[in-house]
Amino acid sequence: MRTINHWINNAEVGSTSGNFGPVYNPATGEQQAQVGLASVSEVDAAVAAAKEAFTTWRSASLSRRAEVMFAFHQLVLANRDKIAELVSIEHGKVPSDAAGELARGIENIEFACGIPQLMKGNFSEQASTGVDVFSIRQPLGVVAGITPFNFPAMVPMWMFANAIATGNTFILKPSEKDPSVTLFVADLLRQAGLPEGVFNIVQGDKVAVDRILEHPDIAAVSFVGSTPIAQYIYSTGTANGKRVQALGGAKNHMIVLPDADIDMAADAAVSAGYGSAGERCMAISVVVAVGDAGDKLVDAISARLPKLKVGPGTDPDAEMGPLITREHRDKVASYVAGAPGEGATVVVDGRENDLPADGFFLAPSLIDNVRPGMKAYDEEIFGPVLSITRVDTYEEAVTLVNDHQYGNGTAIFTRDGGAARQFQFDIQVGMVGINVPIPVPVAYYSFGGWKASLFGDANMYGPAGIDFYTRTKTVTSRWPDPATSSVDLGFPQTR
Ligand code: NAD
Repeated sequence: MRTINHWINNAEVGSTSGNFGPVYNPATGEQQAQVGLASVSEVDAAVAAAKEAFTTWRSASLSRRAEVMFAFHQLVLANRDKIAELVSIEHGKVPSDAAGELARGIENIEFACGIPQLMKGNFSEQASTGVDVFSIRQPLGVVAGITPFNFPAMVPMWMFANAIATGNTFILKPSEKDPSVTLFVADLLRQAGLPEGVFNIVQGDKVAVDRILEHPDIAAVSFVGSTPIAQYIYSTGTANGKRVQALGGAKNHMIVLPDADIDMAADAAVSAGYGSAGERCMAISVVVAVGDAGDKLVDAISARLPKLKVGPGTDPDAEMGPLITREHRDKVASYVAGAPGEGATVVVDGRENDLPADGFFLAPSLIDNVRPGMKAYDEEIFGPVLSITRVDTYEEAVTLVNDHQYGNGTAIFTRDGGAARQFQFDIQVGMVGINVPIPVPVAYYSFGGWKASLFGDANMYGPAGIDFYTRTKTVTSRWPDPATSSVDLGFPQTR
């Protein structure tokens, strides 16, 4: 059985804890590897390496750090197919989808290549007579990232590209469900010239996470995952004096106004609802059909579902793969099973399929007449299940979204510019699409939801990422002319 190791000081390090977790091939249901789960002392060893490396890495010039990022960028581009394959084989998403994930991750490396520009501070000459004031950005020290299974390449890149470029050293705790790709990427960082100890990986579960949250030498923690864990990470990390950004789960609504192009809206709903088997935090989960759009949408979406090709990533025609584990597949299926009892209508039942029985497959499902108070509406499903909620007016649609506990992403489909503009003003959600179903911001903006989708104030990547991984020092400086120097006990004033 292949064993997936830690990465410390630019080399693989085997776990000595004696604890291992299974890594499956979701398309076949077979265990294909085991991952070592770090003990407290193994986390400590990684942190010690990162702490030691910080002293020299923070002193590396901005050009040197940019040079490493440019070299890393080239290596990632040269290894795109291999990275996508590694994602696909452990996560289950089809290679084209894995390539898409990687493309969005690469944007973050490109952003970090501009680090000399991004680290600029401010300078005020002559704040007082002969006095200048300026601010500089400095790295925090050792910072950690804890990441989910659903974007095993992209989400770590959201974090470590900016963290390293700003001069920090980094500990990554990837999802234990699909950890291999991070080791491959770590070796590319080594090849790019990143010094030992700057980027480290500890494989693990709650033991490793809890040690990260309490370790006195870790200054900040970035987390992406489910809401209950995000809340735990935020409260525990901040109680231990760390800077924390914790992004959680989602329930993304797509509002379709009666004037929308129904075919365009149906294409978008199917793409955003079932892409990556619905295992995206920005997946569309609920289509809110306003006025008479409901029947037309149900017809248009259900007509598209039989044409979707579900299969393993090794099938070049497959558009959607399996779910991550058998347990998760069964949990997703339970929302379909429970829908009729709560008064909803199952239009397409993905449990009825002839997909390989040993793999963790579930075909696309469509549930109509879903309303607040039903489990399929209130909870994040995180699978290939799309709900339709029918409302009479735009105002009702907005109230639905604003009343939901999650506020990650949302989209409106309409031809009415005025309605779209009103929507962007009214809606209490962090990322909004106008005729765009998955509005993940480009890397030079920042990513973050509202309400139970984000804990803490800091959005991820882009300018917010640079802010998160740096702290500001403000210097007030005077080089007096000895000829005018005198004792003055008054409080310094600017005029
Ligand atoms: P998860 O919360 O189960 O796991 C995320 C990380 O937390 C993993 O590294 C895991 O090892 C660790 N973890 C799990 N349980 C823990 C515990 N009890 N104590 C400490 N650490 C623990 O999430 P997941 O299932 O890997 O990912 C799917 C979830 O992530 C979904 O809810 C999805 O919406 C969310 N997500 C959110 C975003 C976003 O940007 N908001 C992006 C991707 C995924």
